[in-house]
Amino acid sequence: MAIQRTLSIIKPDATRRNLTGMINDRFEKRGLRIVAQKRIRLTEAQAQRFYEVHAERSFYRGLVAFMTSGPIVVQVLEGENAVVLNREVMGATNPADAAPGTIRKDFAESTEANSVHGSDSLENAAQEIAFFFSTIEICP
Ligand code: ATP
Ligand code: MG
Repeated sequence: MAIQRTLSIIKPDATRRNLTGMINDRFEKRGLRIVAQKRIRLTEAQAQRFYEVHAERSFYRGLVAFMTSGPIVVQVLEGENAVVLNREVMGATNPADAAPGTIRKDFAESTEANSVHGSDSLENAAQEIAFFFSTIEICP
């Protein structure tokens, strides 16, 4: 397996409850290195563009409203097999289905307010990282 990078977002439900450090601890304990990180507030247009693939889904409008409801922390995680490893550390989309010890099992409030985002493929990871970060902001 190769060293990969993936895009992670700590969502508004988690920043509101001051869980950034607790969530970062989960990444670091599993060998994911935070090589870039910033706290931002998405505009509606930015959230719509980021979640464009879901534009036709019934949850899209609610998701955009949720993702703009408070600050988020966007970050680049680096490590062995980082894309799949991060999805494992996050757990299933619906916290009721998430495995014990995952971030979503332990912290998510609902399927929508599920505390974290993680890229779902290497290709999407590269696109999502470029959406939020320039190369000089990533410091391995
Ligand atoms: P993410 O893309 O945030 O890492 P995911 O890949 O597990 O999560 P997706 O299917 O890509 O899930 O959905 C993106 C996000 O949209 C979910 O994380 C969640 O916040 C929201 N979402 C997905 N399905 C639903 C639903 N049925 N109802 C409400 N919100 C949903
Ligand atoms: Mg997804």
